[in-house]
Order: sequence, then C-alpha cells, then structure tokens
Amino acid sequence: MYTNESTKYASAADIGQKSRVLVVEDEELIREMLVLALEEEGYEVETAIDGRLAIEQLQSFDSSNNETTAFDLVILDLMLPQINGLDICRLVRHQGNPVPILMLSAKGSETDRVLGLEVGADDYLTKPFSMRELVARCRALLRRQRLSTATQAPVLNYKEITLYPQECRVLVRSEEVNLSPKEFRLLELFMSYTRRVWSREQLLDQVWGPDFVGDSKTVDVHIRWLREKLEQDPSRPEYIVTVRGFGYRFG
Ligand code: CA
Repeated sequence: MYTNESTKYASAADIGQKSRVLVVEDEELIREMLVLALEEEGYEVETAIDGRLAIEQLQSFDSSNNETTAFDLVILDLMLPQINGLDICRLVRHQGNPVPILMLSAKGSETDRVLGLEVGADDYLTKPFSMRELVARCRALLRRQRLSTATQAPVLNYKEITLYPQECRVLVRSEEVNLSPKEFRLLELFMSYTRRVWSREQLLDQVWGPDFVGDSKTVDVHIRWLREKLEQDPSRPEYIVTVRGFGYRFG
C-alpha cells in the first residue's frame, strides 16, 4: 500500500540546501514511512504525533531561533488527536505563516479536499498514496516555494517607512533615504518582524554574521545612525525603540 520507490531526480540535498519538513501524523506506521521516504529524498525531517505538539513545533521559530521560518514544508494529517489538521492549518495561516502545507486524509470526499484547500492547505493527498506520489508533490511544493521567495520578497511597509527589498530602496515620509548596506539589512530585519525584541547579539548574528569579530556597541552605533535617518526626533524614537535590559524593537 505504501510503497517507497527510489527516485531519480535531483533532491534538495543535491542542490546544496536541505529543506526542513515537519510531518504531523498520529499513525506510527505511516509516520515512519513518511520519515523514511523524505529522508531518502534528502530532507531534514521532524515529526509531531498530535495537533498540540505540531503547533508547538510550528511556533518555535518565533522565539527560539532567528530563522524566518523553521520549516520549508508541512505534511499534515487531517484527523489528529488534540487539534485536527484543519484547525492547525487555519491557525498557521491566521498567524501569517506562509509555509506550504500538504494535507493528508483517510477520507477521499470532495468536501474534505475543498475544506482543506479553503483553510489554506496548498495540496491534498488521500490515503492510501504511494510514497513516490507524496515525494513528487513535496518536491513540487518546495520548488514553487523557492521560486516565489526568490522572485518576490515582499515590499515592507510600516507607518511612514517603506522598504523595497529587491531595489534596496527605502522611503521615509515619501522621501528616499540613503542607507549603508548594514543599515539596510538591519532595517529589513526589523521590518520583517515588527514588535519583536532583538538582543544586540541576535542582531550581530543576523546582520553581521556569526564570524563578526567585535562587540555589541557596533549595533548601538548603527541604530543611532538609522534613527537619525528614520526618526523625526531621534532622541525620542517611535520606530526603533530601546527595550531596557533586552535590546531593540521595531514598532
Ligand atoms: Ca490520523
């Protein structure tokens, strides 16, 4: 029923980048088959055995690391203990997480399929399915995702600041401002996660990279320069706010 045929196509690992997949499935046998097939394809796989754990896994990216999104793809069973697949999907989309979702279901009815897609799943597969088919669908979703993120990084907007990632341009109160590459990266990061608090170390890591040798005062200096360019009154910033004892926040 669940065949695990080998594949001849270039896997994610072959193109030098390991895609991370979250498998949410309560049935142990199917879960193990999925993990096996996906790992063979070169993906890094994590699992969740019920809805609550899945949500925890999906939300960990907000607080514990600095990745834009922890997973590149989610394979989500419809019928799950605790919280079902439809509700998980709805929640993930409600939170603005764009991760591609492939929904699995034992039922094959049209209603399930439509409902799944309506709540924001990207694709739908009915059990039983072959692992070959599953892997092909995953590959297609990941390819689509890669294309869309490569071609259209979204324009970022907050109050009177607009940042165009592709053009490396920033408008403040409709006027173009010149930012250094580091200032630009810093602002882009801030605007991608408004109201998130960043420590100086996290900012150094994200903008200057883990190999940067120097101290966190570098961050403070760049923040001061950015404020001078963005804020109407740099001594009373409304965009880049100091969070005493923690670091900085945008918005
Ligand atoms: Ca199930």
